[in-house]
Amino acid sequence: MLFDETNNGRGCSSLPAKNGGDARDTCHASMDNDCVVVGASFAGLACATALARAGLRVTVLEKKADAGEKLHTTGIIVKDAIDQIAMLDRLPAEVVRRVGGVRLYAPNLRHVDLAAPGYYFLTTDTPEVMRWLASRTEEAGARISYHALFRGAQRLQSGFDLGEFGTTRFLVGADGPSSAVAKAFGLGKSRRFLFGLEHEYSGVELPDSDKLHCFIDRHLAPGYIGWLVPSPGGAQVGLARRVHHRQRPAVKAMVEFLDKVAPIVDLRGLQPASVRAGMIPCGGVVRPVAARRVLLTGDAAGMVSPVTAGGIHNALKHGLAAGHAIADYLSGRREDPSTWFVGSYPRFRVKRLLRFLFDRFQSDVLFNLLLHTGAVRTAASIVYFHHKGVFDPQTQPTERTAIRLELNGRAGDAGPGSAGGGA
Ligand SMILES: Cc1cc2nc3c(=O)[nH]c(=O)nc-3n(C[C@H](O)[C@H](O)[C@H](O)COP(=O)(O)OP(=O)(O)OC[C@H]3O[C@@H](n4cnc5c(N)ncnc54)[C@H](O)[C@@H]3O)c2cc1C
Repeated sequence: MLFDETNNGRGCSSLPAKNGGDARDTCHASMDNDCVVVGASFAGLACATALARAGLRVTVLEKKADAGEKLHTTGIIVKDAIDQIAMLDRLPAEVVRRVGGVRLYAPNLRHVDLAAPGYYFLTTDTPEVMRWLASRTEEAGARISYHALFRGAQRLQSGFDLGEFGTTRFLVGADGPSSAVAKAFGLGKSRRFLFGLEHEYSGVELPDSDKLHCFIDRHLAPGYIGWLVPSPGGAQVGLARRVHHRQRPAVKAMVEFLDKVAPIVDLRGLQPASVRAGMIPCGGVVRPVAARRVLLTGDAAGMVSPVTAGGIHNALKHGLAAGHAIADYLSGRREDPSTWFVGSYPRFRVKRLLRFLFDRFQSDVLFNLLLHTGAVRTAASIVYFHHKGVFDPQTQPTERTAIRLELNGRAGDAGPGSAGGGA
């Protein structure tokens, strides 16, 4: 879609901002929306909720019929997200399951158990979590349009013309790793990916079901891991692997993985209730990640931890922060967030280095030999439990209060990367 910086009749004229920043609108009311957010998943719903709570007119465009359909995520939420993101308060107990630790398996299936005091993960009935988040967003005052496929936008003087979806002063791309918003505005796109494939089985109870079972295996899951996860309604089994043209197909690797984990739980004769699959960006934040009045967030921005491949925490946290930043701009309090806000996006410098090393030097022989050593246990604990692997539970409430991202808070309250950078 072509840029058009001219006023074509639907746009508004602008005045220079007093602070030398972006131009300020003179006729907001003629725009249908203050902000259109593309994508009704974690990042988009968080962003839209913050905008609606600020009293702005926000519409979420979602191509699917329902926020809970055709998901591509295991849906594990880390404790840091629960602690910091008020939007997750009152998550219904029946859609989550608390899991206390990790059992990490070497390629030869010897294992170590890892835990950190007070730390836990929530596995989820993810479709229901998405529907619940969508209803919170609507309660906040945002409108969600389903069956609404964003294809492009025409730039106006003070916003955008989205054709059948009307006009808007600001546009957010929360539309995942193949972002159509990024494409429409020539923004950056992720180039390094893992591919994840997962089966969900209803009514299956895993042995040692208070643990996430994680499997290192360079042949089946190069660049990442395989997993067995107890979920609210059964179990999820999956693997994610570096995208590489010469590797065995993921479906074949999944068959071999089911054979491998059969001594722990034999799922081979069972029909999965659902299959989830998708690309996981693992190369860090894309560049450029914003343009005038356009911002990418969540997977569209590449905000997934290059090490753990977790993106839900970052999507929620930075989605909310983006909503606050855009609200400040549209209310005339700050400049366009495309200039200042994107500086708060995580850089993942250390995690990108770890990914580089893991991609090149992952060795089954070494993991078989070293899994039980203190060095590997410590490194794995840091990966799974972040810096909080060694926290003192007594001090945590104060810390939590300080960094909690309240819906009426400000982006800067949390500080860039203050929350462990996601799963
Ligand atoms: C197999 C797998 C397992 C994973 N497991 C975990 C996990 O356990 N924990 C974790 O933290 N992370 C996990 N991740 C990563 C996590 O799922 C993502 O980081 C997270 O979903 C990102 O959320 P998002 O809102 O940015 O984008 P997405 O969840 O990708 O949502 C994008 C939304 O935009 C919509 N959309 C796309 N294009 C358009 C368009 N043109 N018009 C309108 N709507 C559009 C889509 O339908 C979708 O609803 C996993 C990923 C995969 C692939």
